[in-house]
Order: sequence, then C-alpha cells, then structure tokens
Amino acid sequence: MDSLDQIYTSLKISPEVLAFGGQVEAKLSERFAEIDRIAEYNQMKVIGAMQKNRLSDIHFAASTGYGYNDLGRETLEAVYADTFHAEAALVRPQLTCGTHALTVALAANLRPGDELLSPVGKPYDTLEGVIGIRPSRGSLAEYGVAYRQVDLLPDGTFDYEKIKEAINEKTKMVTIQRSKGYQTRPTFSVKQIGELIAFVKGIRPDLIVMVDNCYGEFVETIEPTDVGADLCVGSLIKNPGGGLAPIGGYIVGRKDLIEECAYRLTAPGLGMEVGATLGLNQSFFQGFFLAPTVTAGALKGAVFAANCYETLGFGVVPNGSESRHDIIQSVVLGSPEGVIAFCEGIQAAAPVDSFVTPEPWAMPGYHSDVIMAAGAFVQGSSIELSADAPIEPPYAVYFQGGLTWYHAKLGILMSLQKLFEKNLIRL
Ligand SMILES: *Cc1c(COP(=O)(O)O)cnc(C)c1O
Repeated sequence: MDSLDQIYTSLKISPEVLAFGGQVEAKLSERFAEIDRIAEYNQMKVIGAMQKNRLSDIHFAASTGYGYNDLGRETLEAVYADTFHAEAALVRPQLTCGTHALTVALAANLRPGDELLSPVGKPYDTLEGVIGIRPSRGSLAEYGVAYRQVDLLPDGTFDYEKIKEAINEKTKMVTIQRSKGYQTRPTFSVKQIGELIAFVKGIRPDLIVMVDNCYGEFVETIEPTDVGADLCVGSLIKNPGGGLAPIGGYIVGRKDLIEECAYRLTAPGLGMEVGATLGLNQSFFQGFFLAPTVTAGALKGAVFAANCYETLGFGVVPNGSESRHDIIQSVVLGSPEGVIAFCEGIQAAAPVDSFVTPEPWAMPGYHSDVIMAAGAFVQGSSIELSADAPIEPPYAVYFQGGLTWYHAKLGILMSLQKLFEKNLIRL
C-alpha cells in the first residue's frame, strides 16, 4: 500500500505543505477530541429519537399527489421534534431552502399591525428582502408588519437597555440569528441565546421567539429549543441534512405555532395533512442520522483552517483557539490574488467539478465581483466544502462544510498549495 504521503503527492500536495499541515494538525488533538465528544452525544440523541418513534423501513416509502397519511413524513417530524426537545416540527421538501423556512415561520405567526424585533442587529442578507428592510415584492412590510432592530454593542454583546426600550405593545415576535452568517460579529452560543430569551420573556412572556439556527445544528449538545426558543428554523442543505437531503427546510417548536406554519406553507384548512414526500424520506432520515458526525467533520476543518492560516499570520474569525458555535470560518487573505488562490484550492480538492477553475464574477445583489468555489453533490449545499469571497478589501474568504474531515483537510491543504505555488505564503 502507498503511504499517506504518497497519496497526497499524487493529489499534488507538495511535501512542504504536507509537513506544515501535519505540524498544525498535531496540536489539535484535544480540540478534535472535544468535537468528537459533542458528535457522540448528538449521535445518541438522534438514535434515541429514532428508536423512540419506532423508525422502520415502511417510513421510507414514497407518497405522491396530496400525500395524505404519509407515515414517513409524520415520523420524520416526530424525530426532529424529539431531537430538538420540542413539541412539534415541520420538515418538508416543500420548504425550498432556509430563507423559505424562515419566511414561513415569520409570515405564519405575524399579522398586519404586529411588529417584529431583531435584538441582534441586521439579519442575514436574504431576510432583508423577506422583512422588507430592503423594499421587496411580497415582503412582510407590504403586509403591514413593522420591523425594529437593536444593534449589538461594539463588543458584540446584547444591548439590553435598548432592547427593553424597543419592546412595545405591538411587538409580537423576536428573531435571533445564531450564526454570524457573513458578518463580522461573533456567533452566539446557545447559552447566550438562552440569556437573551430569558430577558425578553421577562419583559413580555407572550413574545414569540424564533431562532435562525442555520449552520448551528449539532455544533453544541443543546439547541435553542432547549433554552426557551418557541421556534427554531434551518435548512436541510446545511448541517441537519447531513449532506444527503437534496432539498428542504425544518421548523421545530411549539405545537400551536408549528400548526400556523403548516397552514401558511400549504393552505388554511389543509395544514400538515398534505405534502407528498416523493421518495425523499429515506434521505432525510439517513442524512439526519449522519448529521452529527458530518457537522463534526466540518468543524474540524474550520478549526484546522483557522490554525493553519493563523500560524501563517493571517487574520481568522473565529481564531484558532476560541470555542465554536457554527461551522463558518473566515480568513482575511489581504489581496485579490490570495482569495482567488484559496478558492482555486477548495475547488481543485472537490470530488465533483475538481477540473473547473472558479473566477470572480458580477453576481446579482452584490456590489463587487464574487468568487465562489463549490464542487458539491447537491447544488448550493453548504454543508459540503465550499468557499466564497467578494473581491474587495479586506479580501476575506468565507468557507464552510466538508462532508468528512478528510475532505475538509484536503481542501485546506490544497488552498495552502495554491497560495504556496503563487508565492503568497512561505513555508
Ligand atoms: C444560509 C442561511 C440562511 C438562508 O438559507 P438559504 O438556504 O441559503 O436560503 C439564513 N440565515 C442564515 C444565518 C444562514 O446561514
């Protein structure tokens, strides 16, 4: 058998890059052990929920048409609800993406005249259109739902005084985004989110708190529903789909609120009773089963990248040693050549489309050119190794995912290789 070094050489990783990566990895055994412990805990949580709901192969059968009495769909939703320690769940291929799931959760539980509050600053880009912060057709603003926002303090913590002032008799829902997304603020831990929920409910116990959980699932042993969130929402082509879900979103939480979501997703009077699953149930179950270990692989990749690039003197968020609450890593490469080389490396390491070269391009909704690297089995899946960067100062690249730690590692080694070949780093 070839040695490990030989097989990396055959994939065009040079001895210098391999040696450097090896030195960095050798220092991460404790971090990786902690990530493995969390994955083990979450794996047991998911298996426990599957056993409790007596998952069986009849649940993998396809429904078509209206999808009445889809036992697999009902069991999948019970498994999600139990894993999140919530009363109910809506887990559907008809929820086309994370933005859609969030839209349904908001639009279903807000009425004209109500106000939505974000106590954690500006939400994710696509939510600006949904809420109507950026005027958009069909936004909540067009339906008479008002929006208020309280920015974080300069140190990234909650501005409790302003949050208290912002809550009024019209406030109906509070939306909290767990992940920093593509902003520079820190990602919140579930514990921090719990403190914020306790604070707003201390002012008005009837407020509905929704957490945008995208990229956060299974990163910790608890989820926002464990600390008082009424609704928790995410995408199945991120962590909880485990790389196998080809589409979908989930909403878990209080039963009455989930029912509102179902009436909004399908139609008043129909609710959860319709929605064929077209043979996707098995992928949803199996992906959810794999999600704790897939998320662990992505997290190891993020920690490895942070430590490699930090060692080389680049700015990294989060840094190499801080605790993690989502799977996103940013690296400030400081030059257009740097971000392009990084993305070329991620692309070249992919199992799919490794032979294409990503190039910066003008994208709708962005004011500068953007370069994206993705060689995914599922289009746009960001639990698979992917990276993107706007070509503008400070020339930071954001990357996430990796269905296995070994693939994430190869991607990062290949990014280093491309930078090394262009003399952008010295090893
Ligand atoms: C990805 C993401 C979304 C939107 O999900 P899509 O599936 O891309 O529509 C919303 N919020 C956060 C924090 C995200 O990371």
